[in-house]
Amino acid sequence: MKLHGIHVPHKKNTAQQQPVRMAPPKTVAIPMSMHIGKPAKPVVRRGDTVKVGTLIAQADGYISAPIHASVSGTVQKMDEITMTNGTKVPCIRIESDGAQTPDESVAPPDVYDLNTFIEAVKNSGSVGLGGAGFPTFVKFVTKDLSVFREVIINAAECEPYITSDTRTMLDRADSIYRGITALKRYLGVKTFIIGIENNKPEAIAKMRGLAAKTEGVTVRVLPAMYPQGGEKVLIYNCTGKIVPRGGLPLDVGAVVINVTTLAFIAEYLETGMPLVEKCITVDGSALQAPKNVIAPIGTSIADLLEAAGGCRTEPAKVLYGGPMMGIAAPLPDSPIMKNTNAIIAMDAKEAAPPKTTSCIGCGACASHCPLRLDPRAVATAYRLDRAEELEKLCVDLCMECGCCSYVCPARRPLVQTNKLSKLMLRQYQNQQKEGNR
Ligand code: SF4
Ligand code: SF4
Repeated sequence: MKLHGIHVPHKKNTAQQQPVRMAPPKTVAIPMSMHIGKPAKPVVRRGDTVKVGTLIAQADGYISAPIHASVSGTVQKMDEITMTNGTKVPCIRIESDGAQTPDESVAPPDVYDLNTFIEAVKNSGSVGLGGAGFPTFVKFVTKDLSVFREVIINAAECEPYITSDTRTMLDRADSIYRGITALKRYLGVKTFIIGIENNKPEAIAKMRGLAAKTEGVTVRVLPAMYPQGGEKVLIYNCTGKIVPRGGLPLDVGAVVINVTTLAFIAEYLETGMPLVEKCITVDGSALQAPKNVIAPIGTSIADLLEAAGGCRTEPAKVLYGGPMMGIAAPLPDSPIMKNTNAIIAMDAKEAAPPKTTSCIGCGACASHCPLRLDPRAVATAYRLDRAEELEKLCVDLCMECGCCSYVCPARRPLVQTNKLSKLMLRQYQNQQKEGNR
């Protein structure tokens, strides 16, 4: 079986450029919810002095992640910040002293077995850096090591524009190697597959060099076909295995880890410096000159754009992430978060909403859906308020990749309707559960 998908313009404008490290901004705003799960709980107060790597918020609950100061300076304010979904979450604002002094407590963790490894990954504040934002340590928690049959390293980076993972492969291949070594030692996994699209020849060469000196590592070169980096798509294309509906990669023995997340874990094990900065692709039609910028977490988008050389025109829309799955930033001072891998600033032409017309029943949306869903039928069920039908249509499987909207000749907002349909289905299923109690 061949999984569908689409060809999108690659626009990897920054792949050849070394990332530039920006100077610390005057202030950073660090939201307590930069991960999937419960927001972190602040452990500092207004007026406290912090250094780079100081714990400022602890994980609250099982699916949560601690947060650390990304600049040295003083806690200026504790307030709230508006997230991309419109909710408000607590936020710690730090005024930088410009010195970037590391916290004295930063030291390599003592890791000698699976439990101490998991604890270290948890304390590092690591979340899925490819955009998912899922706390990384949770993937490794098990009572039975035999469940881990293979690790798939997600190096596909299939969204247009984004090259931050490509730069990881080119600039931090040693860290990827050490990350693989750590997973071999603590998880006992022997098989590693690096899944990478064929539009990154230099990164492929680097990864093949790494595989040549590491037993059990293969590089799977995949067609540059969006959404090759979608977790279930990648598992299927690398192993031929299908994750069951409602299941997890571990149900087919796989752990999927983003290549930059893996490099970060290796670096944390060596230095103890938690996740305080990100390499971010800054691109889009409004930009003067696109760049990859290493920025402290909490840097405002406005400061990041400035550090990248500024815009040639006022951006009409700024996206967190790429143009296929990216989400509009609510404000120019919205911050860079742990899972931000790109900021795309669009001019008015690029950002203009498409003119929508009636469905012509061409079926292109269904034939290009990588998960073989039927977005046109989903839209009809949603319009008619038929949650049961949405369940039959498996809308819960939709990964919101946007392929259906992209290929629709009528420019229908199919992915947006899918998101609303998933919400409708969840509410329906919750009501069903309550009714059965
Ligand atoms: S957004 Fe959902 S329905 Fe549309 S192509 Fe992607 S997975 Fe399929
Ligand atoms: S691609 Fe658009 S026009 Fe074609 S069937 Fe799907 S919704 Fe209708």
